[in-house]
Amino acid sequence: MSNVINGKQFADDLCEKLKTEVATLQEQHNLSPSIAVVLVGEDPASQVYVRNKVRRCEQLGIKSIEHRLSAETSEADLLTLIDELNNDSAIHGILVQLPVPDQINDKAVLAAISPKKDVDGFHIENVGAMAVGENQMVPCTPLGSLMMLQDHLGDLSGKHAVVIGRSNIVGKPMATLLLQQSCTVTIVHSRTVDIQSICRQADILVAAVGIPNFVKADWVKEGAVVIDVGINRIEVDGKSRLVGDVDFDDVQSKVSAITPVPGGVGPMTIACLMYNTVAAAKMQNGL
Ligand code: NAD
Repeated sequence: MSNVINGKQFADDLCEKLKTEVATLQEQHNLSPSIAVVLVGEDPASQVYVRNKVRRCEQLGIKSIEHRLSAETSEADLLTLIDELNNDSAIHGILVQLPVPDQINDKAVLAAISPKKDVDGFHIENVGAMAVGENQMVPCTPLGSLMMLQDHLGDLSGKHAVVIGRSNIVGKPMATLLLQQSCTVTIVHSRTVDIQSICRQADILVAAVGIPNFVKADWVKEGAVVIDVGINRIEVDGKSRLVGDVDFDDVQSKVSAITPVPGGVGPMTIACLMYNTVAAAKMQNGL
């Protein structure tokens, strides 16, 4: 049996359930979950992410309203748009695709989004809620990673989880979620001394670094479960390829399970955005 966790299939199954739920909300409550997706500028990777998110919405019957703004948009104009979206009861989720251009302060943008509509889970109120175990909107990438881990391992209690990376959008919320599941959690990062020997103790290893093929076989314990969050574009034989932060070919035979790149965490991130949008729509309508 393959030890590759099929994130694409997992995401398709979750989306199938959400599609049924969206149809039921429409039929029984005349409620159409909807998300506003805001893209500022023409960053090619962001355009691909937005396209994939909008396509998933369409498949599920979630309404998506795209706002494409020029790269010269001022922070004030973006904040005005966010304010309008916050006050529009037909919009349940607001996503501003990051990064935003330099003239815009991304912290100000995230703070301006109503926490109830913050389907990315980046607003400080949602971060704080998670820190005290009262999850509201949970960031999509860690949420999707946790779902796959629970599906594969069942109870995570007592497992040693090592998270590589301490970003606000992946590393820290991932560690918080694993702690909530009663894992023993270690975060390692760019200043950690002897990172390999800490990773070798992990029952669960989550890599969110942004360095292609960073984690090698001698970093992982026999039988560990590895979640590779990284998405890195590299050139191989003159062709562009996506690879993770884990050297998949080196590590695969040593571990009990591993997510591939592409087809692992990426599709689950989008599926969890759909999950959060449906949850936000229900919450805002007292369901
Ligand atoms: P980031 O750059 O904000 O954070 C990277 C983290 O890695 C930092 O905390 C840093 O301390 C750590 N780090 C850097 N160099 C290191 C080293 N040599 N040793 C140990 N730690 C080191 O990145 P991010 O936003 O957390 O994203 C990480 C990766 O995940 C990227 O490849 C990104 O593209 C990818 N990503 C994927 C998804 C998805 O949907 N699959 C979502 C978000 C991010």
